[in-house]
Amino acid sequence: MQTGLTQQALERAIENDELILYYQPKVSLLSGDVIGAEALVRWNVGEGDIIPPSVFIPLAESSGLLHDITIRLLDQVVDASNQLRNMDIDLALSMNVAPNDLQSQTISQRIELYLSKNAIRPQDLQIEITESAVMGNFEQIREDIIRLTELGIHVLMDDFGTGYSSIDRLSQLPFTALKLDQGVVRRMGTSEQNLNVVKASISMARELRMTSVAEGIESSATYHFLMANGCEEAQGFYISHPLALHDLVSFANAENQFGGSHIGHVHQTVHNVLYHRKCLFDVVYCDHVGAKACLPSVVNPAITDSLENSRLGGWYFGVGQQLSGMVPFDSLEQPIRELHKLSQEILHRESVHNAVQMQAAALSRMDSLVNQVVSLLHALESALLLKQNA
Ligand code: C2E
Ligand code: MG
Ligand code: MG
Repeated sequence: MQTGLTQQALERAIENDELILYYQPKVSLLSGDVIGAEALVRWNVGEGDIIPPSVFIPLAESSGLLHDITIRLLDQVVDASNQLRNMDIDLALSMNVAPNDLQSQTISQRIELYLSKNAIRPQDLQIEITESAVMGNFEQIREDIIRLTELGIHVLMDDFGTGYSSIDRLSQLPFTALKLDQGVVRRMGTSEQNLNVVKASISMARELRMTSVAEGIESSATYHFLMANGCEEAQGFYISHPLALHDLVSFANAENQFGGSHIGHVHQTVHNVLYHRKCLFDVVYCDHVGAKACLPSVVNPAITDSLENSRLGGWYFGVGQQLSGMVPFDSLEQPIRELHKLSQEILHRESVHNAVQMQAAALSRMDSLVNQVVSLLHALESALLLKQNA
């Protein structure tokens, strides 16, 4: 521990407002726009000396001072958010919290108060909590995470890839985003295994309907590779170091040239369509082998009544619409609609007749529609590649 770093010194620092926030910009990999920033605390000891959080947060936690700090930082974030809004700068600010902040409901109650007074809008504030903190305190913080998301606050799982969370646990909490750990992101360039972890994490986030965010991006190569694989948001020294609020304002107002593309998103949609086909296939298959009764969950392969919210149509009728006007994109609507309708018919017939033979024609039509959709998505992916290099 650094000389002079005592509980008393930290208490004095809190009283003297020496704990200040820096903001590290986040960029959308779809549009290239600056869309948010992560608030990171620093201890400003004066004369240009700054103590990083890794040095004093553990002391704050062990001495019980972290609650107070988190509350004060939340107040700073709300204030910063209002300053940005007054300047017509639309950025979502995220802040880091420790498990104790959630367990004691310190944070959620204060956020609720701010929201009720319209001091902040839910879309302007996000909460980050590390994967290891989540896994070590699952039951204690579960309720609070659910409460925050019910309030419309996005909750991000930070440092994902380091905390051994199971997909089962992950799906039990309503996280809105997975934030890939910077170590995993950095090692992606040197290890094929890490590269595969990154790709699988992005696909998993998409399947669980979470946004994928990557931190620790230090090069153009990493930035573009993540974009090509469907990661949605980026943060790291390649974009910017953490900035004082007034520098964040200049950064947000500047013409940034990071670039964005839907190319990876389209690629992920191919997976979604194939997954949709597999789910339907499973229903028919399980029925055929008599396993449907044991696997009731198989019967609902996310084919909801609403095409717009389904695995099949969510991308097309959502963010994908930004590609409207590109021929392969526009050509997708009709086969997607037909595939959705056919899927519902297959499910209905299965529930009534329970006979694979009766599904043969529909399954064959389904395959030809899936092939049509996939080849249009590939054409769209290639068109986006050429557009990017034009
Ligand atoms: P984190 O939340 O994962 O934040 C990212 C850290 O990585 C930050 O370090 C940031 O400066 C650094 N970083 C960002 N981009 C790059 C990059 O491209 N390369 C490299 N090498 N590093 C990069 P920082 O600010 O020192 O924060 C460290 C950790 O301290 C944070 O990790 C977070 O867990 C914790 N922390 C920061 N602020 C707070 C806070 O207000 N409350 C709590 N409870 N924890 C905080
Ligand atoms: Mg963080
Ligand atoms: Mg992190």
